Amino acid sequence: MSEFDLIDIIRRHVGAARSDVRTGIGDDAAVVSVPPDHELVICTDTLVAGVHFPDSTDPADIGWKALAVNLSDLAAMGALPAWATLALTLPEPDARFVERLMQGFAQLANEHQMALIGGDTTRGPLTLSVTAHGIVSTGQALRRSDAKHGEVVFVTGTIGDAAGGLRILQSANPNAGNPGPDEQVLVARLNRPQARVAAGIALRDLASACIDISDGLLADLGHVATSSKLGIEIGEDCLPMSSALQNCFDAETCRDLQLFGGDDYELAFTIAEARADSMRATMEKLGCRVSRIGRVIEEPGIHVLDRDGRRRETSSKGWDHFR
Ligand code: ADP
Ligand code: MG
Repeated sequence: MSEFDLIDIIRRHVGAARSDVRTGIGDDAAVVSVPPDHELVICTDTLVAGVHFPDSTDPADIGWKALAVNLSDLAAMGALPAWATLALTLPEPDARFVERLMQGFAQLANEHQMALIGGDTTRGPLTLSVTAHGIVSTGQALRRSDAKHGEVVFVTGTIGDAAGGLRILQSANPNAGNPGPDEQVLVARLNRPQARVAAGIALRDLASACIDISDGLLADLGHVATSSKLGIEIGEDCLPMSSALQNCFDAETCRDLQLFGGDDYELAFTIAEARADSMRATMEKLGCRVSRIGRVIEEPGIHVLDRDGRRRETSSKGWDHFR
């Protein structure tokens, strides 16, 4: 199995056929055409085995997730996904592994009419680095720095599930038998995240600032607050929780998973109060749950209010690779 045999396998799993791909896999670089009056939105996210996913993860889930985390970044910018490249580092030239990996990748690419247009294949510890390209009308991208004082803060979906799934995997006794339905829901949220692409696009004309929740709710809201030079206050009782999470952990663990756990790939956004009703109606049409969790304040920092409205002390800032 040579590098070129592996690339042949990859070439059979390129996702959607797009007429705007002038040159795809096979030349020194890809060529795509960007529609007039649009801008490119570009992001890269890397998954390292043992760091971003447990070594035992199904290769199809790894392929899916490598693209999903990038789709989530595009979603947070309000971009429509179009193209991706994949830098793949493999410990061994394992054809069956690559086949499974690319099945998961292509399944998600197809769901979003995305095309894999190039990449690189090397030997080393298992690592997938995906660069995704999306488009927005000129000037329409959502930024995390555009929150305004007095706006309300919303999140999509439910929060804390993926961190719950990771907790379950880490504590699982391999001989303990089959996981129950709630455990399966949480582990699926970890392994097969669903990027909020349609919601992000709809939020372009509605939200001011937007971010995807990858490092943890507090950490990511912290990015919005810092880059907008404002603060955010959230109510811990307002955080949307799935019944699966509630059924699997005690209340305090649930709260920690919701505040500090990462990998949910939901969107958090700020919006003028006057636009909230029309946003809710739009999201309902998309089948996307949204919950109001707080507001933008002048005082810097992220402040968590308990059920009595008192501020909690929170120190940990979620996951940071270099701490
Ligand atoms: P070069 O030597 O010119 O950099 P390569 O031999 O690395 O090209 O790759 C040949 C072609 O296969 C290129 O078009 C490249 O984009 C594509 N390719 C290589 N690895 C991957 C990968 N992991 N995913 C997608 N395309 C890939
Ligand atoms: Mg070349």
